[in-house]
Amino acid sequence: MKFLRVLLLFCLLGFCLIGFVFSQESNWQNFKGKHFIVLYQSSADKSEAKKILRSAEKYYGSIGRKIGYTRYSNFWTWDDRVKIILFPTKELFLDQTGQPEWSRGGALDIGFSGQKVIVSYAGQSQFLREVLPHEISHLVLSDFIGLDHKIPIWFSEGVAQLGEEGKAKKAELVMRMMIRLDRYYPLRSLARIDIRKEKNEEYVELFYAESVSVVDFLIKKFGSDAFGRLCRKMSDGLSFEAAMKFVYQGMLSSYSELEKKWIQYLNH
Ligand SMILES: [Zn+2]
Repeated sequence: MKFLRVLLLFCLLGFCLIGFVFSQESNWQNFKGKHFIVLYQSSADKSEAKKILRSAEKYYGSIGRKIGYTRYSNFWTWDDRVKIILFPTKELFLDQTGQPEWSRGGALDIGFSGQKVIVSYAGQSQFLREVLPHEISHLVLSDFIGLDHKIPIWFSEGVAQLGEEGKAKKAELVMRMMIRLDRYYPLRSLARIDIRKEKNEEYVELFYAESVSVVDFLIKKFGSDAFGRLCRKMSDGLSFEAAMKFVYQGMLSSYSELEKKWIQYLNH
């Protein structure tokens, strides 16, 4: 269940956290980049904070390109830079965010203020390869589509995992096996799941693997530009299914057609 230990915090929880950080910002040290500011408390975390900033700037470009967000390079500069808050310990992180024990990090986008924040804690071995790109991807997607529009959870989690190194490849292998065993979610069911309420770890694992596998299929099969157009149609207010029908005309007209082509692709 390693790859599931990432939580999207979005919205309400953020207000107290932001208040906390701003009220105590003088106690925090920081590294500032073009699009990110890494805040850390303990001098022991200085070199980790520096590495995080370097990686975040790298992911900023690569994630945008992958999902076809081409007008991207001028976002998140100066006052709009994303704050990455690195608590010195997991205990402090959990205490200040109220997140469940298994959480490793989160992202939140405070729409009216434009403030975007990633919160996590120091000393995680897979932070740079998993947590950081996952949370940056959530923020890139919400920037692209907009907070006013409902992004389906599977779609958001699928895109978020695309940024994680090796995740899509692993999910493809898992899904090939699960399809052979006929143990996967029909895509219309996948689209209805609110995974934040799911307690069964196997279902959660399947949800995440399937989500990234489908998103990865769309990009590998039809390209990043078409995927970018799909996101833009969703940002215009179309549902995922309507946007898909519009962008992939004649090829994908419904969830069931997407499911059929995705399975064909995995079995090729
Ligand atoms: Zn996520």
